[in-house]
Amino acid sequence: MNQSNKKNLEFIKNSGINYFLQDSPRNWFENTNKVEKQLKYNADNDKLLRINEVINSIKNKKTILQNSAKNLVVYDGNINARVMFIGEAPGRDEDEKGIPFIGKAGQLLNKMLAEIKLQRKEVYITNVVNWRPPDNRTPTDEEILEFLPYLQKQIDIVEPEFIFLLGGVATKAILSTPLPLGKLRGKWHEYRSLQLNKTIYTIASYHPAFLLRSPQYKKASWQDLQMLQNKLKNEN
Ligand code: URA
Repeated sequence: MNQSNKKNLEFIKNSGINYFLQDSPRNWFENTNKVEKQLKYNADNDKLLRINEVINSIKNKKTILQNSAKNLVVYDGNINARVMFIGEAPGRDEDEKGIPFIGKAGQLLNKMLAEIKLQRKEVYITNVVNWRPPDNRTPTDEEILEFLPYLQKQIDIVEPEFIFLLGGVATKAILSTPLPLGKLRGKWHEYRSLQLNKTIYTIASYHPAFLLRSPQYKKASWQDLQMLQNKLKNEN
């Protein structure tokens, strides 16, 4: 290698370029894709780490519900979901497996999702309260407030475009209103996250367990689901 070529190479290396020119044309698109993939991988990892931190904080938090519950139940689905579904609290099946909405109500939720062409793995599913209350009782206001910061953190991490509230407890927790579900359903509400400095469009609708007991409300629930489906289509 002559002296000027050597200097040239050193100059290139010193300017931070650490690959060599090649004979064949470089596929810049392939490189861009690789960089994009790497960035997405890093972002996903970061989200996962942050969600795991939330899970650990809930685990470490002392609560009376822990005495009677078997397993902590936090989320199922996709941390990059466009929609977050929020229920009340784990039931017996969920407590056994540590996964939300896998019992009878969960099976109906899967059907509801399928009706609007969504799969479980595409959405983020969680609850207001993460330990099963004894005998499946409704969580108290104190319990809702105890767990709310963890739910808010999950919303901030996942950053969904839409939230679908399943039942009165999730609605009370997220929309902070004492109004009954019948008055709140069928329209869009705004959930404001201070952390994200943005508004997330939110629908309040019936809980699948309630729909199993009172199938006459399924028509209204279907209308709410269609509102979500339309938004997902229009804001793609
Ligand atoms: N009901 C809920 O609210 N959440 C579950 O995970 C299961 C049943």
